[in-house]
Amino acid sequence: MMDSWRVRTVAVGSFLIALFFSMAGTAAAADETAPVRDPKQAVDEAYTAKIQKYTTAPYFTSPLVNYLPASKSVPTPEAVLGDVAGAPGVLPYAEDVYNYMRLLEKASPRVKVFSIGMTEEGREMIAVAVSSPENLKNLEENRARLAKLADPRTIKLDDAEADKLVAQAVPVYYITGTIHSPETGAPTALMELAYRLAVDESPYIREIRDGMITLITPVVEVDGRDRIVDIYKWHLAHPKDFFPPLIYWGKYVAHDNNRDAMGVTLKLTENVLNTYVGWKAQVLHDLHESVPYLYDNTVGDGPYNAWVDPILTDEWQMIGARNVADLTKFGMPGVFTHGDFDTWSPGYLMFIAAMHNGISRLYETFGNGNADTQERTLDPEEYSRTWWRQNPPLPKVTWSQRDNNNYEQTGLLTSLHYFNENKRLFLKNFYLKAKRSVMKPSAEGPAAYVLPADEARPGLQAGLLRVLQKQAVEISRAKSAFTVALPVKKEKPKKGGKDAKDTKEAEKEKKPEPTSRDFPAGSYIVRMDQPYARIADALLDHQYWSPDDPQKTPYDDTGWTFGELFGVQVARVTDLKVLDVAMERVTDVHAPGGVKGDGTVFVINNTAEPALATFRYKRKDANVEAAEEPFESGGKKFTRGSFVIRNANRADLDRAAAELGFEAVALGAAPGVKTHPVRAARVAFVHTWLSTQTEGWWRLALDDLEIPYDYISTQTIAKIDDLNAKYDVILFPPVGYFPGPTAIINGMPTAWGNPLPWKNTPETPNLVGKNDSTDDMRPGLGWDGLAKLQAFVQKGGVLLTVTDTSRFAMEAGLVTGVSAHTSDRMKIVGSVVGTRLVDGASPIAYGYDEKVPAYCDNGPIFSLSNIAGARGRRRLGNESHTRPTGRGTVDDPDFTVGRPGVEAPEELTSEVWEAPPVTDEQRRNGFRVIPPADRARVIFRYADQKDLLISGLVEGGNEIAQHPSVVDVPTGKGHVVLFSINPVYRGETRGTYSMVLNTILNFDSLDAGRKLAEK
Ligand SMILES: [Zn+2]
Repeated sequence: MMDSWRVRTVAVGSFLIALFFSMAGTAAAADETAPVRDPKQAVDEAYTAKIQKYTTAPYFTSPLVNYLPASKSVPTPEAVLGDVAGAPGVLPYAEDVYNYMRLLEKASPRVKVFSIGMTEEGREMIAVAVSSPENLKNLEENRARLAKLADPRTIKLDDAEADKLVAQAVPVYYITGTIHSPETGAPTALMELAYRLAVDESPYIREIRDGMITLITPVVEVDGRDRIVDIYKWHLAHPKDFFPPLIYWGKYVAHDNNRDAMGVTLKLTENVLNTYVGWKAQVLHDLHESVPYLYDNTVGDGPYNAWVDPILTDEWQMIGARNVADLTKFGMPGVFTHGDFDTWSPGYLMFIAAMHNGISRLYETFGNGNADTQERTLDPEEYSRTWWRQNPPLPKVTWSQRDNNNYEQTGLLTSLHYFNENKRLFLKNFYLKAKRSVMKPSAEGPAAYVLPADEARPGLQAGLLRVLQKQAVEISRAKSAFTVALPVKKEKPKKGGKDAKDTKEAEKEKKPEPTSRDFPAGSYIVRMDQPYARIADALLDHQYWSPDDPQKTPYDDTGWTFGELFGVQVARVTDLKVLDVAMERVTDVHAPGGVKGDGTVFVINNTAEPALATFRYKRKDANVEAAEEPFESGGKKFTRGSFVIRNANRADLDRAAAELGFEAVALGAAPGVKTHPVRAARVAFVHTWLSTQTEGWWRLALDDLEIPYDYISTQTIAKIDDLNAKYDVILFPPVGYFPGPTAIINGMPTAWGNPLPWKNTPETPNLVGKNDSTDDMRPGLGWDGLAKLQAFVQKGGVLLTVTDTSRFAMEAGLVTGVSAHTSDRMKIVGSVVGTRLVDGASPIAYGYDEKVPAYCDNGPIFSLSNIAGARGRRRLGNESHTRPTGRGTVDDPDFTVGRPGVEAPEELTSEVWEAPPVTDEQRRNGFRVIPPADRARVIFRYADQKDLLISGLVEGGNEIAQHPSVVDVPTGKGHVVLFSINPVYRGETRGTYSMVLNTILNFDSLDAGRKLAEK
């Protein structure tokens, strides 16, 4: 997890209060069982000898894992691995791990294996429960008890009743391994952990087994696990060669699979979430491996997510501090719980627990990326002794996978034992957190969120509600219209000097603030008096990250407000009366759809709903046109870009509209406005072999929408003779970091080393899956490829680029008149920002309103120029021109002594997002002046500085305020469409998907509605 692309430095200074707070109450009670082997416990001597052999130093182990208990009937991990857990050279496939867990299940009544769902590529995910036979026999009974604690409404919020349940219930501690595929150690650690919990009769282990249920998903990213094991096998077969980096993990995304706990778009997230919620578990503990030697980042650093219950942050302190203490007492170096991980974003897998009234935990242990034993040298930042890491890791060590497995198991066993010792407290807390969620409306509020029935984008609205339902949030629907009171806004005292006249005028002009809001019948209500209100609140509310926050390096996105990013209305209602509205629970949310009216021409109003593109591709043969102007027909208003469909079969269309959730209106005649064809363009989707991290979210979105595309690499571009013969549109989504145009063109070094194949071979049968392959990952686009891209655009193709690939397009010379900058003064770290429509006549903008919230991560900052080769002049928003120093007042002209004044020609002005107008001087022999038809067309721009921040962190926003956010550059006969925002991201930004889809569908009419400059 720590190998995040964001720049990190170790943040200190903000933990002091937390530290002193955390030290209370973490000492072991005098009557606690000692963490040692029972002398009577039989030991598997051969296995134990190997454990010791593979452990590289005596202090990299503990009395809990430096032996293996023997069993007459239960097989050890050796039965499947052929060696002990963590042995060098041994990395099991997921299936091997499952086979072992099922052997355990067969041999021991203390183990049960559950299938919890499939991955995108059709591999199974499992959860293994280890507990006493008694507990496993009574699973359902126990689940019923936990369910009552999880939903206090079922016991009428009765604390006495809760106490009875707390006294009887057996808690569930859920451990998940290897979500990050290059972090390879967890599966073997968890195999051995399951064995220990099942067979060891030492009191320390028996207490865990009898007192609680340990639930284990040994492999979370199953598709990626099989790939990394393939690569390891290839490496073992070619020990002297460099081995290929893991370019694909799961089908869609790599490291970001641990950023999906908000949108729940990946199967692994959905399966773990359903397991966590279904088992009513108290803890979700996720295992990672990128920090020496054990960073229990549960405590981490601030700012903490604002929606978690303080009861939970207290639990983090308790468990984290105790965990560090236990391992430190074993003499294990390098164990700590404060660090640079802030706990702001709820996107991490472990945060499923934090947002569902449980306890989220995460370990970073130290991994070598495979099962090789290696010498490892740390950075000073990693081995320095700090106040929060008094016993730091060593600067240089020989490190083995066994060492890693020792740390993982020791950390987990002490956690489990401590949790069991204090389970009544934690179970009561579990209930209290749920109760406090239910009481949210009258406590901190709000009472509910309302998604109105008159939403212009019912499809996107339904999509947002379905995300909430995946999160186990209850959705209701109002049976009749209702009205709620709006909170009274307190006037802020005006800054600066008061001008009596100005204030009076302002007051006269000010419309009275509405005091109530009406919602139509059928509006969706997300009640906050439900146990999982917390996650709904966290997703739907706004975020504010102060530029003054002591945390200067946010770990991930700072803003995510789902209503804004989905482009739909979400009202935060504090009026408690909303809870009394007559409503019914909705289980299946679906946007209504069908054909209305009479006539033979059908019109679909365009409100930038992605379902329109799905429809276009599903009905490839339909005659669909787009209206280039808004129009009215039969008393109904239609927007620009509305679909006009002729010669359609009404029943067919009705079926499609019902399925996809849009309304078509039948008209007697076609509207009198100009139209152009809307085509199902042939799309190529380009990726590099440098990183597929960020483009994966684009593939996921297109696959969800059933938009077909050819998935090709930059290498393939050079090999296609005529790109235009195959494709209309080439999408080049973000690479995910900016390696510069040279890296995209040159790829990785090929002058030395060996080819890095990404293809299926006998050693690597799982590598390719459903993605792409190559004999050698190293070559990039190449100069031939660049020429092919340029020719594609010149001959009429449309190239769409985003953030870093937009910079590539500019710096490689694919476009003229647009340049990109970055700014050290600006910090927009994964935030929701305001953008504004500039040219609504462009098909790219069809269906959008004036204001469009969008996802921005530090730009880049686009600037336009009408002069070829010139870098666009960077201008700060709200720039003001003042007169020079001289006579008179600020509005007076200056004068020159001894001659009459002359009137200067009027200065040409332009907006920040526009190119500065061509001056008469530039036009003298103006061969560099870009002809009006070839100039960049700004479709959207960033909002003014004061309106830029919607959610998250915006610092130095004037650097990007008003600059273009989406630009269409006519180039030859084609177009390059440049995005500064990322319109398709983590399943969260569905409101901006249609900017991309519009570009695709209108690829040969992008100049529609264009007004050219006169000169
Ligand atoms: Zn990780």
